[in-house]
Amino acid sequence: MSRIHRLSTRLANQIAAGEVVERPASVVKEVLENSLDAGATRIDIDVESGGSKLIRIRDNGSGMDAQDLPLALARHATSKITSLEDLERVGSLGFRGEALASIGSVSRLALTTNSDDGSEGCTAICEGREMEVQVRPAPHPQGTTVEVRDLFFNTPARRKFLRTEKTEFNHLEEVVKRLALSRFDVGFSLRHNGKVIHNLKSGTSDAERQRRVATVCGPAFMEQAIYIETDLPDFRLWGWVGLPTFSRSQADLQYFFVNGRVIRDRLIAHAVKQAYRDVLYHGRHPAFVLYLEVDPAQVDVNVHPTKHEVRFRDGRTVHNFIFSSLHRALADVRPADQLPENVVAADDGGTINTTTGEISSQGGLAWGAPSQAAGSGFGSYQPAARPLAGGAMEQVSSYGQLHPPANQAGLPEQGAAEDVPPLGYAVAQLKGIYILAENAQGMVVVDMHAAHERITYERLKQSRDTD
Ligand code: ADP
Ligand code: MG
Repeated sequence: MSRIHRLSTRLANQIAAGEVVERPASVVKEVLENSLDAGATRIDIDVESGGSKLIRIRDNGSGMDAQDLPLALARHATSKITSLEDLERVGSLGFRGEALASIGSVSRLALTTNSDDGSEGCTAICEGREMEVQVRPAPHPQGTTVEVRDLFFNTPARRKFLRTEKTEFNHLEEVVKRLALSRFDVGFSLRHNGKVIHNLKSGTSDAERQRRVATVCGPAFMEQAIYIETDLPDFRLWGWVGLPTFSRSQADLQYFFVNGRVIRDRLIAHAVKQAYRDVLYHGRHPAFVLYLEVDPAQVDVNVHPTKHEVRFRDGRTVHNFIFSSLHRALADVRPADQLPENVVAADDGGTINTTTGEISSQGGLAWGAPSQAAGSGFGSYQPAARPLAGGAMEQVSSYGQLHPPANQAGLPEQGAAEDVPPLGYAVAQLKGIYILAENAQGMVVVDMHAAHERITYERLKQSRDTD
């Protein structure tokens, strides 16, 4: 007996699914991309139990004919490309023709659709080892509804890797956010366990775009972001970049789109990081929503099954273009523009205030409110009974030396608000990492390491200026 045999269609599809269907969020990504490729202007997403029980996505796109339905569910069947030349300048999000076949092999998938050819619509499900497709008539307005139930019900090993309902939903919501940022002209709604989480109306005016970005990224981002736009003959870059005052502890608010495709790319990440290098503390991450438009022939999107990565034909030029556009935009922002009214800018629920430490007009480090920048940062006064550990003390005193207080006596009277340096008076050291200080507004927590870096940087700058 031959030891080699052909895999069943389902098993072959399940193997392919291993690459593209990792969790409910991946299903949502693939199905939403199909809706966008079908020209939908309105997409409604309904999920239950973080998506592992049910994902239902309904669009008003082109829909499909009854005779196309079995092919839509078959592997290597697509309406999006026919030749290698097509692949090289592909404009659609999909082209591999394997998402629906993969999803269908690891879930209970039903597709209901109507191409508005006069028929009432039809529905299809695939079953069995060979995934035979059964099509029957079913009413549906023009467009398509994809229903994915019990994801991984037949692949227990995969199912085991699913996290909690909340975690899976967070991943799924992130996918919806990304795609919502990629297409302002499409309306999206997202419901979880019957509750409306997002309802994003379509609209492409400046105000409508801004509203969507604020809804998706949070209003605080929009308040502390600048709009940039750079046009070159071969490239166009536009979008919003967070001011250094809006840095994050995680790289969780970084959206980059290349020709409308959501991309996570090392080259781009590096260019952005370089542009922020001089204005962000070590360990903090910038926030941005950026769109790069290039000739499709300049990017290869067929690098990875999930298509999260691209390869640029001329990576160096793209890197330089992104770096210089952002660097210029950030340099154009005057320090005074960046400082919020007061210090508190809790971007990620943390208590640490991370203003930039940009030089205020008076020459002091403006960690506090700019109007308070009396020319010094920390005072040397310590009302706290508990002595500071060596490290913190060092930071405080070197800071004091760098910007001596206005009154050289160094010990301003308590209560005289105008004499309080912006960083206030060091009170305690926390966990060996932060300095807790008191200034006119209240308490400030300062990252010692960041303070040290800033002090070194200021020293270098001072010595260069005096040379
Ligand atoms: P791909 O997107 O790579 O072509 P898929 O397996 O995701 O592969 O989809 C297969 C085909 O099914 C698509 O090429 C398209 O013709 C059709 N299709 C899938 N979803 C939709 C939809 N929402 N509306 C219209 N056609 C769809
Ligand atoms: Mg697809």
